[in-house]
Amino acid sequence: MVWDVHKPFIKSERQQKLFNKVEKLSEKTRNRSEETDRHASFSLENLRDLKEADYHSLTLPEQFGGKNLSLYEFVLLQERLAVGDGSVALSIGWHLGIVMELRDENRWTPDAFKWIANEICTNKKVLNRAATEPATGSPTRGGIPETRAVLSGNGYLISGRKSFTTMADVLDYYIVSAFIEDKEKVGWFIVERGQTGVNIEHTWDTLGMRGTGSDDLVLTNVKVIKDRLIEINSEKENKSFPKGWLLHIPACYLGIAIAARNEAVQFAKHYQPNSLNTPISSVPHIQQKIGEMDLELLKARHFMYSVAEKWDQQPDQRGNLGPELAAVKTIATNSANHVVDLAMRIAGGRGLSKKSNFERYYRDVRAGLHNPPMDDSVIQMLAGRAIED
Ligand SMILES: Cc1cc2nc3c(=O)[nH]c(=O)nc-3n(C[C@H](O)[C@H](O)[C@H](O)COP(=O)(O)OP(=O)(O)OC[C@H]3O[C@@H](n4cnc5c(N)ncnc54)[C@H](O)[C@@H]3O)c2cc1C
Repeated sequence: MVWDVHKPFIKSERQQKLFNKVEKLSEKTRNRSEETDRHASFSLENLRDLKEADYHSLTLPEQFGGKNLSLYEFVLLQERLAVGDGSVALSIGWHLGIVMELRDENRWTPDAFKWIANEICTNKKVLNRAATEPATGSPTRGGIPETRAVLSGNGYLISGRKSFTTMADVLDYYIVSAFIEDKEKVGWFIVERGQTGVNIEHTWDTLGMRGTGSDDLVLTNVKVIKDRLIEINSEKENKSFPKGWLLHIPACYLGIAIAARNEAVQFAKHYQPNSLNTPISSVPHIQQKIGEMDLELLKARHFMYSVAEKWDQQPDQRGNLGPELAAVKTIATNSANHVVDLAMRIAGGRGLSKKSNFERYYRDVRAGLHNPPMDDSVIQMLAGRAIED
C-alpha cells in the first residue's frame, strides 16, 4: 500500500469530502502554474475555478452560505491547494483567512458583516487587506501607514501607496489601512476596484510566488463614505490577540514542500543512470535525503496540526496561543525551505531547468520567510515569554 502524506491528518468524513473537492481544484491550478509564474499575475481561470467550487466562501458561517471551516480544516485544505500551486493557495488564503477573522472576532458591525458575507456568497466577491507600504515594511512591526485619510464632506479622501497587494488586479474589495487625520488613529477602509483614483501599478516582478500578482495599489484622493471606515485600531490592538487564521501561511509553504518531496521521491524511484543497476532510490545518500525530507515534514506538520486543533478545541486558551502560532510559522517555513533544498539535491542539475517544477518550488518557498511573523520576531517573542516567566 502506498503511504499517503495527507491521510494521517484527515479525521472525519466531512474533511475527506472537502479534501476531495480541493484535490481536484489543486490539480487544475497545477496545470496553470508554469504560465502564471511566467506572467507574474493571478490567473482569472484559477479565480473562476475557485469561485465555481465555492472555495472562496468556505470560511463563512453556514447561515451565510459557507461551511464555517474550523482552523484545522482551513489548514488542511490550504496545504492541499498549495501542493498544486502555492501562489493560488497563499492568495485565496488571505481572503478566506480575513473572512475567518471577521467571523470569529466580531471586528465589523453585524450589518457590515452580513453585507460582505452576501457579497462573497451571492456575488462571488473577493477581498484582501492592503497593509504593507514601502516606508513601513511589514505592518507587524508597528509602523504608522503613510496612507492618509482626510475628512471631506460626508466621507474621507484616501491617498497612498500599498506594496505587496496580493491579487491586486482581481480583487473586488481592498481593506486599506490608513492614518485617519481627524481621529489621529490608524483605521481600515473598504475601497472598491474601479473607484475613481484607484490604480494598480504592475510592480510585481519577484523571484518567487509570482502567481500571487502582489502588485502596488495606488490611491489618489479616493472618496469613500464614512461607513466605509470599517475598523479603527484601538490601543489594545497593539497587544494584538493571536491570529489563528495566519496558519494558512505555514500550510501554504508546507504544501509547496510536499509537492517537491513527492516529485523528488518519484524521480528517485524512476531515474536510473547507466552507471547504476538500480534506480537512485537504492543509493544510501539519496535515501538519507528522502528520510530527512520526511523528518522535516513530520515535525512541522504534526506541530502545525496540533496547534490548529488546540485553537479549535480550546477557544478559552486562544489568547495564550500567540507564541505557539508564531513558532509554527517559523518551524514550517524553514522546514519547507530545507525540504525543497533536499529535493533539489536529489533531482540534481535538471532541477535547475525552467522545464522542471523544482526550480519554481525553490523560488516560491523562499518567499515564506518574508510573510508574517518574521523569524526574528518569533524568536524574540519566545525569549520574552521565557524571561517574563
Ligand atoms: C508573497 C507575498 C505576499 C504578500 N501579500 C501581502 C498582502 O496581500 N498584503 C499586505 O499588506 N502585505 C503582503 N505581503 C507583505 C509582507 O507581509 C511584508 O509586509 C513584506 O514582505 C515586507 O516585510 P519585510 O520583513 O520583507 O520588510 P521590512 O519590514 O522592510 O524588513 C526589512 C528588513 O529590516 C528588518 N526590520 C524592519 N523593521 C524592523 C524592526 N522594527 N525591528 C527589527 N528589524 C526590522 C527586517 O528583519 C528585515 O531584515 C506579502 C509578502 C509576500 C512575500
